[in-house]
Amino acid sequence: MVKVYIDLGHEGDVKGMDPGAVANGLKEANVVLEIGKYIKDMFAEYENVEIKFSRLGDKNFSLTQRTNEANAWGADLYLSIHINAGGGTGFESYIYPGAGSKTQAFQNAVHAKIISKKVFGKDRGKKQADFHVLRETKMDAMLTENGFIDNKTDAAILKDRKKLIEIAAGHVEGVAEFLGLKKKPDPKPISTPKPDGRMHYVQIGAFSDYDNAEKLAAKAKKAGFDVYIKSE
Ligand SMILES: [Zn+2]
Repeated sequence: MVKVYIDLGHEGDVKGMDPGAVANGLKEANVVLEIGKYIKDMFAEYENVEIKFSRLGDKNFSLTQRTNEANAWGADLYLSIHINAGGGTGFESYIYPGAGSKTQAFQNAVHAKIISKKVFGKDRGKKQADFHVLRETKMDAMLTENGFIDNKTDAAILKDRKKLIEIAAGHVEGVAEFLGLKKKPDPKPISTPKPDGRMHYVQIGAFSDYDNAEKLAAKAKKAGFDVYIKSE
């Protein structure tokens, strides 16, 4: 079983919590939470993978608590999801400066899958930065910045449910490719018998005495069947 820790950036849309970047009627904490919920559903389709989220709601949770939790859990991968701000547009991803080739391969896989969804107008590139969650994690770790909340075009993307689903899919497919995850087998299809062009009646009795027919009909009705008496 492979363990993937998904860190949804910031805390929540509640007083006393860090909402992340705020602009254009959006709060970063809410947007990444919505992406995270789609990610949760999508990972359920894969076998031999266990997912843990830093939060799946509003929660006071510091960066140190996040990295401590992932380290203690023994995560194999750490994926932190954020929305950018500060003037710019497009998608970029980060790993720790000088991270090894395995972490680079992780970044390559996830970055490429997200770009392949063609949600963002610009690929800002694969970058490196000394972020807490990249530095303090013991496993391969990367962080995505999914568009700029303070850019009108990117904000419109982040308000579009279908595009958030695509962004989520990019993350999940990238992780799945990097780890070589396989989808669970499809449930067996239910076979539907072909109609043969005739009608088939269910009959439970035939009587020459009408009263006997009525008695049986009443019994069947009581048992919950729809009943009618057909006289010929
Ligand atoms: Zn952030």
